Amino acid sequence: MSITTKEFRYENLQEDETVILKVHGFIDENAEFPEISTLKAGHLVLDLEDVQLINSIGIRKWVLWLQNSTIPVTLRRCAPPIIEQVNILLGFIPEGAVVESFFIPFFCEKCNKNVNVLVTEGADYTLPGAHRGKIEAPSSQKCKVCSSPLEMDVLPQKYFKFLKL
Ligand SMILES: [Zn+2]
Repeated sequence: MSITTKEFRYENLQEDETVILKVHGFIDENAEFPEISTLKAGHLVLDLEDVQLINSIGIRKWVLWLQNSTIPVTLRRCAPPIIEQVNILLGFIPEGAVVESFFIPFFCEKCNKNVNVLVTEGADYTLPGAHRGKIEAPSSQKCKVCSSPLEMDVLPQKYFKFLKL
């Protein structure tokens, strides 16, 4: 379990030519992303599991940061606030960027708890392209604590919109 933090920060977990930036906290007016041209990378992977929130200033900073990327961008373990923006704002992620995996919010009534379930491209969904993207949403999820069936806490037609574009 990650520690919830509001403060924006990132870690660079570079592996050879691939820069993996793990982003934490709020993407807001305090967010300072590294200049992509200085990263000396052939591929940029953004690990977004611990993003708690993105506000309007953060969205602007994010878009300006990524729009001039000259290297391929992959989004990994996208937290729900990121997927919401991918759905709402055309151009939130650069053209050709790949959403490799993301979380779907579920809810356990018995535990009264939110549970995020990770889905992965290729295994659970396909990205839009020559064939329209599709998702085999994991409908029969069970709570790891009480084994009750979980209910999806988002509207599929909204939350999976980016797979149908
Ligand atoms: Zn439960």
